[in-house]
Amino acid sequence: MPESRGYYGRFGGLYIPEILVATFDELIRAFEDAKADPSFWAEYEALMSTYSCRPTPITFAGNLTEDLGGARIYVKREDLNHTGAHKANNVMGQGLLVKRMGKRRVIAETGAGQHGVATATMAAKLGFECTIYMGEIDVERQRPNVFWMERLGATVVPVTEGSRTLKDAINEAFRDWVTNMDSTHYALGTACGPHPFPEMVSWFQSIIGTEAREQIQQIAGRLPDRVYACVGGGSNALGIFSGFLEDEGVELVGVEAGGHGAGSGRHAVRLSYDDASVGVAQGYKTWFLQDRDGQMQHTHSVAAGLDYVGVSPILADLHEKGRVRFEAATDTEVIDALARTVRREGLIPALESAHAFVQAFKEAPSMSPDQVILINQSGRGDKDIFTVADAFDDPKWKAFIREKARAYDA
Ligand SMILES: *Cc1c(COP(=O)(O)O)cnc(C)c1O
Repeated sequence: MPESRGYYGRFGGLYIPEILVATFDELIRAFEDAKADPSFWAEYEALMSTYSCRPTPITFAGNLTEDLGGARIYVKREDLNHTGAHKANNVMGQGLLVKRMGKRRVIAETGAGQHGVATATMAAKLGFECTIYMGEIDVERQRPNVFWMERLGATVVPVTEGSRTLKDAINEAFRDWVTNMDSTHYALGTACGPHPFPEMVSWFQSIIGTEAREQIQQIAGRLPDRVYACVGGGSNALGIFSGFLEDEGVELVGVEAGGHGAGSGRHAVRLSYDDASVGVAQGYKTWFLQDRDGQMQHTHSVAAGLDYVGVSPILADLHEKGRVRFEAATDTEVIDALARTVRREGLIPALESAHAFVQAFKEAPSMSPDQVILINQSGRGDKDIFTVADAFDDPKWKAFIREKARAYDA
């Protein structure tokens, strides 16, 4: 819970232009009202259980457990959500809130395009107009996602300002919101940004942790010793962690995108390396990868969904309080963990989720067989086929792409 006006320790807050104050007040009121109304959560659960495969199961990774010879490894299957990741939890929740507020249009920012596809899906289902802001470079890199957003009825606006990537898309979405406040809701994609977004997004994602706490006790006969989740903005991590925050014996581990590693300048690690500093940007205060003048730095990760300069203020505070431990996984480690998980369990985690698997694999062997590890598989990896096939340097895949290109040229 935020201490006041969206602060978590010294992080968070609500840094917005005067013109948006009334809109945020309206949103905060609608959110508080929905939270206090049990029928709202019931409607949310009903929707998620008929539209998005909730409750998602927990799978025992028996082969990996045997290979690693330590703790028993369990996986929470957020990959089974509609549109392939935990992002559905957030957008469908915000969609119901938009209906409650009587608005008819949603906008969103997207980097890799996953949040854009999830938002466009929600808009199609609930009957809203939808505009997605996306950096021009990302539009070029993520054609399959742009294709689906457009089929789902969204207008995709390529942003040509600045570095033409995610942070410019966020600025453009705020600009749209200022102009269309009365009709429009900005469906922010992770537990970042100005209050109430960190709290609101975490609240919708808490469905993961609530389910997981009950399921793991049923399946493993006890609470987990350690819970692992990857951290981009922080929403899937906060979702699963929320189920165990009060359980002192449960260690919570967030895994950031180590990219090319510490000191490389090519990563997206805010908390577990020394490269970030505290600042205010995009409406809130947290650790940002920025230079001395507060200019945001270029980040890198093999997993597009973790490639972000800031981190949830709630996680920044839990890090400072020592409640969540942060680690980083490099691109190479991630590809190895992905290959191993696919081969041994037949599970295909997203490259983002594979970060959590890396750290769990490092720690499981030194734990005992009566201990329990729970990994949040935030999304499914078949979306990553272009990146993964490249990383595996698969010659048959290359021939296939070449042949496709030739067919189009002809
Ligand atoms: C977007 C995404 C993430 C990162 O977002 P968080 O807000 O940190 O959860 C992680 N995993 C998958 C599969 C994603 O699509």
